[in-house]
Amino acid sequence: MAEIKGKCGTDCNKCSFREKFNCGGCLAQQGKIFWGECDIYKCATNKGCQHCGQCHELPCENLLEFIRNGHNPDRLTNLNRWKNEQT
Ligand code: SF4
Ligand code: SF4
Repeated sequence: MAEIKGKCGTDCNKCSFREKFNCGGCLAQQGKIFWGECDIYKCATNKGCQHCGQCHELPCENLLEFIRNGHNPDRLTNLNRWKNEQT
């Protein structure tokens, strides 16, 4: 299944919450998801980045804290891979 690149490094296609909360994924939801408005989505969007992998500050302290507190430890690995891709 093709990846859906969430701005924080989540592959929305692999996220177990997507079905559970009927979530369309990061871009479809525009950062407004079941737990509220996502600051990482807002920050990356304001910087004109499709995801944090395109940001020269990667990995900023906010993102690292977000990843530490989250359910998906693959985010940073994904972002480091995505930053070398065109999209
Ligand atoms: S946590 Fe935020 S940036 Fe990450 S996939 Fe969800 S809405 Fe997108
Ligand atoms: S790496 Fe940090 S500063 Fe850069 S877009 Fe992501 S959250 Fe914002």
